[in-house]
Amino acid sequence: MNQVDYLRISLVDRCNFRCQYCMPEGADLTYALQQNVLTQDELLLLLQDVFIPAGFTRFRLTGGEPLIRPGVVDIVRAIAQFPETQDLSMTTNAFLLAEMAKDLYNAGLRRINISLDSLQPEVFDAIIGHHGRSRWQQVWDGIQEAYRVGFNPLKLNVVVIPGVNDQEVLDLAALSLDREWHVRFIEFMPIGNDYLFSDRGWVSSEDLRQRIRDRWGLTDGQVRGNGPADVFKIPGAKGTLGFISQMSECFCDRCNRMRLSADGWLRPCLLNETGQLDLRTALRSGVLLHELRQQVRELLMLKPEINYKERDSGTTGTYSRTMSQIGG
Ligand code: SAM
Ligand code: SF4
Repeated sequence: MNQVDYLRISLVDRCNFRCQYCMPEGADLTYALQQNVLTQDELLLLLQDVFIPAGFTRFRLTGGEPLIRPGVVDIVRAIAQFPETQDLSMTTNAFLLAEMAKDLYNAGLRRINISLDSLQPEVFDAIIGHHGRSRWQQVWDGIQEAYRVGFNPLKLNVVVIPGVNDQEVLDLAALSLDREWHVRFIEFMPIGNDYLFSDRGWVSSEDLRQRIRDRWGLTDGQVRGNGPADVFKIPGAKGTLGFISQMSECFCDRCNRMRLSADGWLRPCLLNETGQLDLRTALRSGVLLHELRQQVRELLMLKPEINYKERDSGTTGTYSRTMSQIGG
């Protein structure tokens, strides 16, 4: 059985982008009420007195967009200082990264994943739902600054959408040639984006690998990460190419994570609400920390049964809650 020791923490469910595949413009998104978002003290208390004693040692800060959370640098510092923390990372759209990378690094963050779906400013802006002066350059500057201050590994996440950015797959893969960057292609999932998904569908990782193989060849990388990515390498490249294939391949049996939403819901599975715990309400209504710890431990035991397996039986439904609401 997989040891579940990895918690993805959503710091905020809002975002300064409106990615078509995540928070499309015009979608009827409901946000957590401000008073329902876990405060910094509540979050740190839950980590220290509930999650760490229950065995969690690896944490990823995500959202929504984690860099718009007030006090994010202080939160990073506090989590990095827990003696039990073995790994602390962040997933960000990098729009605010150029100005924050150094402070985040100095606060103890060492690993960062950045979403970058296109190298073409017009395509990028269309994907993130931005009108007006392009945001691409600021994101690119954020990536360069993160690399400069020492973030290593630096991973770039690309969600591949047919007819939108899949023609750029070779250009994006080429970013791994000369720099120690890890480019990860993520199969587009039908989470909270029914229209775009039914219109465009998705491209399989194997299809992408074939395109890359035809151009440069592709060897198996040495890295078999902890996470869901299958890692390969273009021969001679400095960086690697990862493929996250949750549509073409069910990896529920190697799932090692749980998710804590910004408003304090603990969810054992991205696609399935079975077993979810409302830790915020419990905490605020005075449930004792050792009782919460026990509830989390029990949920850990149940997780293998909760993991989503319906896809094996041919289910192709879409899911109404978006990644930004769950904490992707
Ligand atoms: N705002 C940050 C960012 O974009 O990196 C962090 C939160 S975002 C929800 C986390 C990851 O989820 C991103 O890499 C994003 O590309 C991915 N994501 C969001 N919606 C997705 C979808 N429908 N299918 C596949 N990946 C998705
Ligand atoms: Fe925001 Fe990230 Fe979702 Fe894009 S993928 S809308 S950047 S939360």
